[in-house]
Amino acid sequence: MTKTILPYGRHTIDDDDIAAVAAVLKSDALTNGPVTDTFERALADVTGAKEVVVCSSGTSALHLAVLGLGLKPGDQVIVPSLTFLASANCARYVGADVVFADVDPETGLMDPRHLEEALARARPGAAKAAIPVHLNGQCCDMTGLKAVADRHGISLVEDACHALGGTYPGPSNTPVPVGACDNSVAACLSFHPVKTVAMGEGGAVTTNDPKMAAIMRRLRSHGMERTPSDPAYPEYARDTDGSANPWFYEMADIGWNFRSSDIHSALGLSQLKKLNGFVARRAELVARYDGALRALAPQVRPVARVGGMPGWHLYVVLIDFQAVGKSRAKVMRELLAAGVGTQVHYFPVHLQPYYQELYGPQTLAGADAYYARCLSLPLFPAMSDGDVDRVVEALGKIARRPA
Ligand SMILES: *Cc1c(COP(=O)(O)O)cnc(C)c1O
Repeated sequence: MTKTILPYGRHTIDDDDIAAVAAVLKSDALTNGPVTDTFERALADVTGAKEVVVCSSGTSALHLAVLGLGLKPGDQVIVPSLTFLASANCARYVGADVVFADVDPETGLMDPRHLEEALARARPGAAKAAIPVHLNGQCCDMTGLKAVADRHGISLVEDACHALGGTYPGPSNTPVPVGACDNSVAACLSFHPVKTVAMGEGGAVTTNDPKMAAIMRRLRSHGMERTPSDPAYPEYARDTDGSANPWFYEMADIGWNFRSSDIHSALGLSQLKKLNGFVARRAELVARYDGALRALAPQVRPVARVGGMPGWHLYVVLIDFQAVGKSRAKVMRELLAAGVGTQVHYFPVHLQPYYQELYGPQTLAGADAYYARCLSLPLFPAMSDGDVDRVVEALGKIARRPA
């Protein structure tokens, strides 16, 4: 009998998701259409943001956000090093430079002190924005980051790709939904299949700034505007009687094709209806892991906890591989042989050859220390309690300190 392998993450697709996608396939609009509009309104409801721009991926969401801010060559953007590549790459897409911030070695999060320290390394006047990342689903201290950002006159864009469905403590500790943007100009979401809500490929930017939303909507589709209120060359736009030419569109700025198809949006919309259930089940599994893993401390510990109710994306443990007496690769291979898939999130971005080539070698002690110990264990809503016990049992056998 072949043992089924528990992956570190997996989408949960039901028959109603399939029916929602099939309905679009039978309709008139396959690309950006009415379903994408409905999905945007549903995301605005869930996050509390005024405007939502759905797009083709979390990466294009980050790209649209930096475009919406008007970042350009010569500008600098502060990005924590312990994240997925896209959090930093978005700055490079617009020719801006990245200043890598360190993170807390126990949570992996960029704290206000890390932002302050990175700003001290930026060129005077060049830093325009910072992109805090809500790693694993736990939120950064947005109030503290906002205070630092305001002092330095920079904008905050949240990389909330891990965190949809969670909340963080707002004024007088009232829970604020991730994506509300009460301390940021925008928040970016991903609907990659391992994230809490799946679209196949998809993403969104949430914002309370209608002007920024309008720019992002325009640049999402080539920079085209069909009926510009103030066309640059009215003689192209209008007929002799002043009415709009039916074929006309104007491109004032270069844009991209970052649209979401209605096929993908239908999956996102159907999945979003189950968000609360997904988040609740992930929280139950996290609580079970936390309890069972106490037996393996101190060599194996869950990442440290911050306030709020995380929309958990990953279940990450920090392992003292030296004390265990095995390399991480060996532990991963032995876990896989026991049917447990794991992954490492993330190799610090400042160590990537592309960035070392650009900015030279760098040491960020917190990011390096987190990376040296982190391992993501299986976490997805369809897991049973027994699956968690099986993972912890396997980990106990494999990563126990030699007697
Ligand atoms: C997944 C992810 C992204 C990119 O999202 P895609 O939809 O895969 O493009 C960006 N940042 C973080 C932190 C992510 O986890």
